[in-house]
Amino acid sequence: MKPIISFVALAICLNINCEGQVNTSNATIKKPQQTNKKMTTSTNPYFNKTSKEKINISEQEWEKTLSPELFEIARKKATERAYTGKYDNFFDRGFYYCAACGNKLFESDSKFASGCGWPSFFETYSETSVQYITDKSHGMIRTEVVCGRCNAHLGHVFDDGPKPTGKRFCMNSISLVFEKK
Ligand SMILES: [Zn+2]
Repeated sequence: MKPIISFVALAICLNINCEGQVNTSNATIKKPQQTNKKMTTSTNPYFNKTSKEKINISEQEWEKTLSPELFEIARKKATERAYTGKYDNFFDRGFYYCAACGNKLFESDSKFASGCGWPSFFETYSETSVQYITDKSHGMIRTEVVCGRCNAHLGHVFDDGPKPTGKRFCMNSISLVFEKK
């Protein structure tokens, strides 16, 4: 009997392990971090480079639509680490669009090497490209810059930029999509 009992015990044990693994992997698949991995601008139904229509959808819808890293910055106002963004040291000629909705934000002619670790511009593409919000977080008073169409967090603007505007729009690369002229 002993070997049979052991066998049954082992079988039960294996089943539990097996189920445990199946459950774990199912749970993992359901996490947005996993499903969003393949998400790009082409799978984002709100990404449109010509529409001016404002986007007002729930945070849950944004979370389903954006990649995890873009969601963290665009909707949770996170900041990418300095000197790590793909557009920090990048000076090709073209336009920068909102990575969340495709709104045209900046032109390469207004980009300059600020040395601050994030892509920097001295002016926006148009007056309606962005909106401004007073940001009192982290014990500072700063001006937050959000997308004029979808309200995605883009970065902050400071008054230490070059002429002619004197502004430095300090942006997250992850919030931007570049396209050549
Ligand atoms: Zn946008």
